[in-house]
Amino acid sequence: MALCGAPLRRAPLVAGVRRASSGSLLIREPLNYWRGGRVGLGAAEATQAVYEPATGRVLCRLQQCGAEEVDQAVQSARSAFLAWSRMAGMERARVMLDAARIVEMRREEIAELEAVNNGKSITEARLDVDSARLCMEYYAGLSGTLAGQHVQLPGGSFAYTRREPLGVCAGIGAWNYPFQIAAWKSAPALACGNSMVFKPSPVTPVTAVLLAEIYAQAGAPEGLYNVVQGGHQTGALLCRHPSVAKVSFTGSVATGQKIMAMAAPGVKPVTLELGGKSPLIIFEDSDLENAVRGSLMANFLSQGQVCSNGTRVFVQRPVLSQFLEAVVRRTKAIRIGDPLLEETRMGPLASRPHLERVLGFISQAKEEGARVLYGGERYTPADPTLKDGYFMTPCVLDNCTDDMTCVKEEIFGPVMSVLPFDTEEEVLRRANDSIMGLAAGVFTRDVKRAHRVVENLQAGTCFINNYNITPVEVPFGGYKASGIGRENGQVTAEFYSQLKTVVVEMGDVDSLF
Ligand code: NAD
Repeated sequence: MALCGAPLRRAPLVAGVRRASSGSLLIREPLNYWRGGRVGLGAAEATQAVYEPATGRVLCRLQQCGAEEVDQAVQSARSAFLAWSRMAGMERARVMLDAARIVEMRREEIAELEAVNNGKSITEARLDVDSARLCMEYYAGLSGTLAGQHVQLPGGSFAYTRREPLGVCAGIGAWNYPFQIAAWKSAPALACGNSMVFKPSPVTPVTAVLLAEIYAQAGAPEGLYNVVQGGHQTGALLCRHPSVAKVSFTGSVATGQKIMAMAAPGVKPVTLELGGKSPLIIFEDSDLENAVRGSLMANFLSQGQVCSNGTRVFVQRPVLSQFLEAVVRRTKAIRIGDPLLEETRMGPLASRPHLERVLGFISQAKEEGARVLYGGERYTPADPTLKDGYFMTPCVLDNCTDDMTCVKEEIFGPVMSVLPFDTEEEVLRRANDSIMGLAAGVFTRDVKRAHRVVENLQAGTCFINNYNITPVEVPFGGYKASGIGRENGQVTAEFYSQLKTVVVEMGDVDSLF
């Protein structure tokens, strides 16, 4: 196969993977990547440890990029943009499809590395890699279809529009879906003819570098997709860089507000994929078995560290006790442990501070009167190599009320708050009583009610009789404080391009002067 043609400029980032409960994994530093290769910054630069959440050991260290390095990465992206933006969409598509095929070939390696660095189960990590690949394939397909309009004007004159790229786009990612976020941002950006500088979260910096290797292997122009490492200072340098034309951000609402403010002086467009506190409504007529499964998917995927999670579970009173009994039974059965084991369904949380934060929310919930039906405690797996991992048991809370902190704030951990309700009107009012509006779900057998409820829910992504399904063909994004713009689907091309109108006069100039 004529893939993987371009030689790597350094030894591959990863040497071997850590097989479950044993073996070592070597991640080669440095983790910064521009001008088609990994870049070391010299010993004097600030470094930061990267941990493996399952064991608490240091995986590697990253060097934080300062102004000079961010500028080098942006200049690298600028030079690639000149070549890439002039290519036909079909030519760009070929590179992106080759990159997607390399992702498919390296699926296991990427998924294992994601599980090791993030802590999610290998089963989920594989699905994330598949979603990244599908996104690359989808936008490769769209790349050749990007086109403007022709508009006939009086007297034979006409106008046309051109959909043009923006330039160098900055991507800034959260730690919960490291590889998928990098792909969901870069694929539409590159398809539209832009180049990208991506900054992953310093908690999970590794797999974005694999994606850079992969684009280079697929024959992308040198510097098309670059990675700078660091925390908020590096991110701010990137947002403020005068040659960055757009910022696409995934993270918390508080950081999103800062990103918007930093983009304002340059009037740069932003895409903001922010947090949520989404409602999931279960009516008494729903298929309860499916509603229970949906609730678990809505709360415990990726250890509950999912922006769209339906963490406010409203259950109509007649089925409340039946629902709780089934949810607790299934939650108790969730296999917690080494994320690399096939049978594991829940790994550790992504970092120690985050684990402490989530446990703090549970203590506060108890103080405010919520009742822990199950879980919410630190967990130590039997395997001694995992004794320092950031594990906890998934938690089901009942006796919750709308004013409790656990019901109002995004916990971003495996904590389900269950709230009884009586009527449709009441539950809609309560479901919409949030500053956020990322997602929402409804379980019912009444098709009219399902659509009526969804029409009245203030959320960017709604699910009927399922939850947390994110096909790349459909737009994903938030209402209210949950964000601006969309990822995935056709519409996202509009967020990574600009429209030029060209008016063509075929007659004489009709001057008033
Ligand atoms: P975060 O906001 O702390 O950090 C996100 C990224 O922004 C990181 O790369 C971080 O280094 C960077 N950053 C932080 N401060 C910055 C600044 N001042 N300037 C520039 N960059 C800065 O979020 P997190 O803790 O990494 O992720 C969890 C949050 O992300 C949750 O709120 C979750 O809901 C949200 N999230 C949303 C989506 C979505 O699609 N809507 C997806 C995943 C996660």
